[in-house]
Amino acid sequence: MDRVNVAIVGAGAAGLSLAHRLTKRLDGRSIALVETAESALRPPVRTWCFWETARGEWDGAVSGRWPALSVFGPDGTQWCSSAAPLVYKMIRSPDFESLVRGDLADVRPIEATVLDVVDGAGGALLRMRDAVGRPAELAADVVFDSRPPVAFPPSAVTLRQHFRGWFVRTAEPRFDTGAAVLMDLRTPQPDRGVSFGYVLPFSAHEALVEYTEFSQDVLDRAGYEAALHDYTDRVLDLGEFSVTGTEQGAIPMTTAPLRVPVGRRVFRIGTAGGATRPSTGYTFAGVQRQTEQIAAALAAGRRPGGSAAHSRRHLFMDAVLLRGLAEGRIDGADFFASLFRGNPLPRLLDFLDGRTTPLTDLTVGATAPIGPMLSTLWAHVRPGPALAREPDDTQS
Ligand SMILES: Cc1cc2nc3c(=O)[nH]c(=O)nc-3n(C[C@H](O)[C@H](O)[C@H](O)COP(=O)(O)OP(=O)(O)OC[C@H]3O[C@@H](n4cnc5c(N)ncnc54)[C@H](O)[C@@H]3O)c2cc1C
Repeated sequence: MDRVNVAIVGAGAAGLSLAHRLTKRLDGRSIALVETAESALRPPVRTWCFWETARGEWDGAVSGRWPALSVFGPDGTQWCSSAAPLVYKMIRSPDFESLVRGDLADVRPIEATVLDVVDGAGGALLRMRDAVGRPAELAADVVFDSRPPVAFPPSAVTLRQHFRGWFVRTAEPRFDTGAAVLMDLRTPQPDRGVSFGYVLPFSAHEALVEYTEFSQDVLDRAGYEAALHDYTDRVLDLGEFSVTGTEQGAIPMTTAPLRVPVGRRVFRIGTAGGATRPSTGYTFAGVQRQTEQIAAALAAGRRPGGSAAHSRRHLFMDAVLLRGLAEGRIDGADFFASLFRGNPLPRLLDFLDGRTTPLTDLTVGATAPIGPMLSTLWAHVRPGPALAREPDDTQS
């Protein structure tokens, strides 16, 4: 049977990032990157945004960058601030893929759908269906699986960051390319959770304009379209415009424990391995941290077991927020407006990226609405069914 040292399942953000890092670090070891050809399983083209210093590893694929960010409170108050020393960057998924694939000459691409990953003491086995539907198998010393999670334990608190965006071209100049709008809370708010507009301006006439909710249930197409019409007409007053493309998605925000090691030889990466920050849905930066830790561990001959993208402390704070939003204890729009009103933007970006110290976390925490946070904290820690000790049933 075919055997490789490392098999990576899925060539999305995490699979490609890990393949890229392993080729730089693991000389002489065989690596296979297995990607399905089935369109129902392949994610559509998307944009990934994240923040980092002006120069970054993926700058060759970056097609948008904004030195400042704006936030609008529910009452229309605007906070616009430089993010320096950070820059908000955007990568389109096809640009990322071509940049990374250009470097993967030593990685063996396999076009197949992985049906099952079987763990074993001496290695793992991938059971697959190849591109023409025949069964196939691949043995590997170690497997990194990025297939998206299919379900979360019912007692975990799970919301979705779900959204639809329009790429628009306006007749009149309507956008300020100096600042992206991270959260525009002037949208009608759901009973539980939060909604907001999001604007990435590419020129005075062109932008990606999104309507986003953090809530339990996604909307239907008509619901998103109505919300986008309301946002672009009533809130942004864009005037005449055409829609040149769309983007839609749902990112899980969950307190379910999504661990990297799931067996002796099997590990999960990306969203499946907990790279998504539960309170924000941002994943790309977590993927980079996680895959860097994994590559470093393998290069040093260590088991990559401790490669968590987010600290326990930040996951705990996120769990309190998710519970507060899901149970309607925390007014989401008020919560996020308070954070942006009470903190310099670079501090908040570090906080949202999990790079802050406990002292800074307390400082940020003190700017949030204290009463609702404390009541949710109590609801979260008081004795009862434990959220964090659920069996892991996130992957088939
Ligand atoms: C529309 C959209 C926009 C987003 N924007 C941002 C953003 O701006 N910033 C941010 O930080 N995060 C963003 N996210 C969240 C997150 O960054 C992405 O979801 C990211 O793609 C997750 O990376 P991943 O590798 O875990 O999963 P994916 O990129 O989805 O990769 C999984 C891969 O596995 C493959 N696959 C699936 N099943 C099988 C199978 N059975 N066998 C073989 N291969 C399989 C898929 O084809 C896919 O290539 C966004 C998500 C969406 C949906």
